[in-house]
Amino acid sequence: MRLILLGPPGSGKGTQAQRVVDTVSVLHLSTGAMFRQAVAESNEVGLQVDPYLKRGELVPDDLVTAVVVNRIDQDDCDSGFLLDGFPRTMGQAEALGQFLEKSSKQLDGVLLPLVSDSEIVDRLSGRRVCTEPDCQKVFHIKYDPSQREGICDGCGNRLIQREDDHQETVRNRLRIYHEETIPLIEYYRQRSLLKEFDGIGTVEQVGQRLLALIETK
Ligand code: AMP
Repeated sequence: MRLILLGPPGSGKGTQAQRVVDTVSVLHLSTGAMFRQAVAESNEVGLQVDPYLKRGELVPDDLVTAVVVNRIDQDDCDSGFLLDGFPRTMGQAEALGQFLEKSSKQLDGVLLPLVSDSEIVDRLSGRRVCTEPDCQKVFHIKYDPSQREGICDGCGNRLIQREDDHQETVRNRLRIYHEETIPLIEYYRQRSLLKEFDGIGTVEQVGQRLLALIETK
């Protein structure tokens, strides 16, 4: 199954994607996580994307698309993937479409959690992430707290607030989402791929709605 999880930053994509891959056999590909890992490793991609991540701005289309296309072309993606955080611009959506068409592959669905801007600001300011690059588990001080404050339940490392989750950067990311990513909703609706679901509720409730959509595919 080839799926896209669309939606604004802070709509719970990362958390929900973790649940989907535990249930359905697809690979979770988060461009944000790939980039944060590249930054932690200070590799060539990491050095290029670091300034964009710090400012909460989008990495240029050519670079993101090259990283994603390269990744989904590998054998372990043959059984399917769940893209989280990509595509985010019309240019990226078109480049992905062209690549899939050339490889005679098709998308099965584009999943969109419905969440308001005010909810997003609330969620992002309470979000805490694991500092271990291979873990990157996500928690929320109010909705999904770790068992020990500031410590990851998964690997025991320290949890931090991401630099781009600070209020000013969150506003910038939301503005970019409205300008660049919202047009993709219509793009995928016209292709009969869009599946919207209520993104408000506990992690469990939202997860069940999402899995129900995937399982009816
Ligand atoms: P995320 O964890 O998905 O919010 O991504 C963190 C950051 O990585 C974003 O604020 C961007 O700087 C960068 N990024 C991730 N995915 C993309 C994308 N599809 N296009 C451009 N930049 C991206």
